[in-house]
Amino acid sequence: TVRYEHIDKSFGNTPVLHDIVLEAPGGTTTCIIGPSGSGKSTLLRCTNLLEIPSAGRIFIGDQAITDKGADVDRIRTRVGMVFQNFHLFPHHTVLDNVTLAQQQVLGVSRDEAVETARANLAAVGLAAYESRRPSQLSGGQQQRVAIARSLAMNPEVMLFDEATSALDPELVKGVLAVMRDLASRGMTMIVVTHEMRFAREVAEQVVFLDHGRLVEAAHPTEFFESPRSDRLRSFLDEVL
Ligand code: ATP
Ligand code: MG
Repeated sequence: TVRYEHIDKSFGNTPVLHDIVLEAPGGTTTCIIGPSGSGKSTLLRCTNLLEIPSAGRIFIGDQAITDKGADVDRIRTRVGMVFQNFHLFPHHTVLDNVTLAQQQVLGVSRDEAVETARANLAAVGLAAYESRRPSQLSGGQQQRVAIARSLAMNPEVMLFDEATSALDPELVKGVLAVMRDLASRGMTMIVVTHEMRFAREVAEQVVFLDHGRLVEAAHPTEFFESPRSDRLRSFLDEVL
């Protein structure tokens, strides 16, 4: 479970998140949607301390990760994050992309890291690609390597920031299939996405952010069928 308690975030004098109160229950998927600049990425980045909230607290399980003295490196290993642009190491093979952090951050042996990497590459359908370099893969394959790399750290929570937005349409499906599979296996996920069908079909909760405020959070049926606010209704009219 990830819990946000009254999160504010400003960059300099510019407020970007206002009083965000939200719970993403363990074992469920929460999708976050909203217009460009509404604070979606900032909220995700606060969740693994790439940004530090200006006020409020974030809990993962019963640990307040935003409290002073929290071990940032340790917290980042508990929270996997997948970005729009993959962020793979270009000069390393697929296998090494998935083993390096295990060895360097978790301190596991090479043999164990390789075993974990192969299991996770198989889970994303890339068992046959371990010797390739990222440039020898399609964008969709690269994104699946990035997911396997995050999963190899055995995170408690997975964050996805528009993981399919940079992909050609025919490659989106494969990445969404991996994310669906992960959700069905009970991973706790927070997913910023423009894929409304994914939100509707996979999420237990959909959240609408606008101008840094949480306007609405509901089960997808209610969220999409009977939005309460005019702002969400007009947003959905534009995107659906
Ligand atoms: P998009 O859909 O375009 O990705 P978003 O909802 O993810 O948008 P954020 O990236 O969270 O939006 O940005 C929210 C606001 O915060 C924007 O106005 C942005 O310009 C501002 N912002 C984000 N990061 C910084 C930063 N490091 N310094 C200053 N302002 C920032
Ligand atoms: Mg963003």
